[in-house]
Amino acid sequence: MSGKVYLIGAGPGDPGLLTLRGKEILEKADVVVYDRLVSPAILGMCNPKAKMVDVGKMPQHHKVKQSEINKLLVQFACEMPDATIARLKGGDPFVFGRGGEEALELVNAGVEFEIVPGITSAISVPAYAGIPVSHRGIATSFHIVTGHEKAESNGELSLDFETLAKCQGTLIFLMGIANMDFIAQRLVECGKDPKTPVAFIEKGTTPYQRTVMATLATAGETIVREKVTAPAITIMGGVVELGKSLAWKKNLPLSGKRLVVTRAAKQASGITARLTALGAEVIETPMIETRTLECPCVIPAKAGISSAIFDSLADFDLLAFTSVNGVESFFRQLFAAGYDVRVLAGKKIASVGKITEKKLLEYGIRCDYVPEDHTGEGLGKLLATLVPQSTEGATSNPIPQILLLQGNLADDTLQKLLPQATRWVVYETLPVSELPEWKREAVESADAVVFASSSAVENFVKVMPQSIEGSDSHPEPRASNLKPQTSFCIGRLTEATARKHGFETVTSDETTMDSLVKKIVEYYS
Ligand code: SAH
Repeated sequence: MSGKVYLIGAGPGDPGLLTLRGKEILEKADVVVYDRLVSPAILGMCNPKAKMVDVGKMPQHHKVKQSEINKLLVQFACEMPDATIARLKGGDPFVFGRGGEEALELVNAGVEFEIVPGITSAISVPAYAGIPVSHRGIATSFHIVTGHEKAESNGELSLDFETLAKCQGTLIFLMGIANMDFIAQRLVECGKDPKTPVAFIEKGTTPYQRTVMATLATAGETIVREKVTAPAITIMGGVVELGKSLAWKKNLPLSGKRLVVTRAAKQASGITARLTALGAEVIETPMIETRTLECPCVIPAKAGISSAIFDSLADFDLLAFTSVNGVESFFRQLFAAGYDVRVLAGKKIASVGKITEKKLLEYGIRCDYVPEDHTGEGLGKLLATLVPQSTEGATSNPIPQILLLQGNLADDTLQKLLPQATRWVVYETLPVSELPEWKREAVESADAVVFASSSAVENFVKVMPQSIEGSDSHPEPRASNLKPQTSFCIGRLTEATARKHGFETVTSDETTMDSLVKKIVEYYS
């Protein structure tokens, strides 16, 4: 059996406009063959193990020819039995997307396929500019036209201008910007009213969306004056006027900014959501990945305990969690070993801060101890007060047995403050060693990078080697060849490391995400 090919429409840009079916296929795809207009956020939804093939490289690199793409799809399907091959295209695959040609090639080769329609830019991009393509009393039809296809006989645009000029409905041109001066002139020559309202909508539905208004008479000169560039939709007709009252998409403080967030995936979602809500396009590029460790049979550091690890929990009075990863890894192991939360009955629970506390609550566990300052040191000091200081006290008030559940990179602050505590490493953190090509490209064109730790900066310059290279005078890798020269940092140490690597730095006043987001907005306002 050959693999199955899915021709999937990715929608116009906003990742929220991908269909559920499309997402479902991307999450399990073995190969993703994608076009230039597909947003990084959608590429980020693809199965991380999928082979990612970029066939839309532009402009320095050559675009892969359509005939080669057709062959490539057949080749993947034939070479990979049972594989899921996603062919991901902007908008809808059958609206000027050449999906029909690809499907015909698959039929001829006997390859099974499915079409997953997408939201076409022809309708959704005007909608994001507040322009309905039809409207009672204004437009009873709409016509979607390519402004690009040339006739083979004479090399002229293969458009029937006489007929188009007579259409009373809305005219929507895709790929029309380069030829719009000519198109507008021909429509006027063929009798269309030169005062017909026209809108150009550039990069619609993305954080870079821009609407430029004109009339048929001024269309060509407006494109030049306003430097309208592809991808853009041109829409003509009375409905364009409605856009003046219905334009609903607000210009937000971070509109048009592409920001790289280097936090670990689980911690990134909060800041990503906030920056996105402020209008930015966020490229999540975690610099570390965490892995739950296999459950050991015994708690390694606790001498004399040899029973199964979860049975030996009986020896502890207090469990201290220092991260969300620690909580998740602990419970993953607990459940995998066939136990449940009852093993924690009667135990005191401590958490380093509010986020870890909230995670514990998801498992039905309320914390007894959370330090005021949310640091390992704060937790250590708080728990140390539970330990009687004199040996006399110890007899009347026994020393509580404390188990620390931590990652492999946790420093020894807690153990220094709690020398009698036992440490159990429940997960390990590894630096990310390489980025997929599409992500590297997205990062290279970003405006700024957000760093929350020195190690994130160090690893970032390691995984972006082409862009950031050291030289004899500056042996440290430097950010100077990279477009994102600005970094938003949490903490002075992070700032110093970013400076060392040539980044300009903007550092939050406090070591919180709130404070950093405020700083980012201030910087761009
Ligand atoms: N299959 C796609 C169209 C591919 S042709 C669809 O259904 O949307 C490519 C053209 O689509 C571009 O030249 C531009 O005219 C239009 N387009 C695609 N995405 C766009 C966007 N986000 N904003 C404006 N125009 C867009």
